Amino acid sequence: MKIAILSRNPKLYSTRRMVEAGTERGHDMHVIDPLRCYMTIASQRPTIHYKGEELLGVDAIIPRIGASITFYGTAVARQFEMMGVYNVNESVAISRSRDKLRSMQLLARKGIGLPVTGFAHSTLYSKDLIDLVGGAPMVVKLLEGTQGIGVVLAETQKAGESVIDAFRGLNADILVQEFIKEAQGADIRCFVVGDKVVAAMKRQGKEGEFRSNLHRGGSSSIARLTPEERSTAVRSARIMGLNVAGVDLLRSNHGPVVMEVNSSPGLEGIEAATEKNVAGLIIQFIEKQGKPGKTRTRGQG
Ligand code: ADP
Ligand code: MG
Repeated sequence: MKIAILSRNPKLYSTRRMVEAGTERGHDMHVIDPLRCYMTIASQRPTIHYKGEELLGVDAIIPRIGASITFYGTAVARQFEMMGVYNVNESVAISRSRDKLRSMQLLARKGIGLPVTGFAHSTLYSKDLIDLVGGAPMVVKLLEGTQGIGVVLAETQKAGESVIDAFRGLNADILVQEFIKEAQGADIRCFVVGDKVVAAMKRQGKEGEFRSNLHRGGSSSIARLTPEERSTAVRSARIMGLNVAGVDLLRSNHGPVVMEVNSSPGLEGIEAATEKNVAGLIIQFIEKQGKPGKTRTRGQG
């Protein structure tokens, strides 16, 4: 198959590994920078051009679209869908998963366990909002944060109100969440491909740190999942409409709760912690599913 990875940087570990895994399995692998694609939008024959030439004969795409280029990146992915090219993670699913509030609302509606979470635009009723999520201690998060930046543990009601006011004063959108203390500074990354968790790792925050992000000095190891954790991860990916997803869980007293569903989960940490060929499993999934016109939305929505 001719498989294109939509990625800005061919040197990234995840991109390199997928090129390698695809090549090993006999595929013609290409890395395409979505920001260098340009397109014609016509009802007759939509096309994509890249570096001066029309892109032809692509059988499947693997979008690896960074958060900062979601808007243009999903437009490029959607154009491929319009052309009938198989997209392993559909553009609508990527947009959906990038919107934290929308994702949490969708997951909650389908009965997935989530930390009790509140959000508000106005700070007028911060005190009441904090009460709604069960009071202190609580976690306040920037909606746009990554790598643990903008995730604050507020141990008292007063601290919570101050943090909310400070973030809102900078016009940042936030959410307030019950603090899952019993997770003990660890979370579980479940790597889902299709209807299976193909690899899972536990990330543990460094001593004295409640955030488990590897960027914050956390460490990772292979995780053994309970059947409930497995099914929560698989169902969450399906609800989002993602075939490839990183589902982050916290182990709470009331079972697994989902923090986030990531549409471009990194391969480096998970392959190192589990010694699994996750890139190869993604390629195998595409071999089975990647028939022309199989993308369900065909660029709709
Ligand atoms: P980011 O998107 O920046 O990684 P997360 O929401 O994943 O932000 O939070 C970073 C880390 O903080 C998580 O991996 C987890 O270890 C910890 N954490 C986040 N929310 C909670 C919570 N409600 N209770 C306990 N720990 C949390
Ligand atoms: Mg995270």
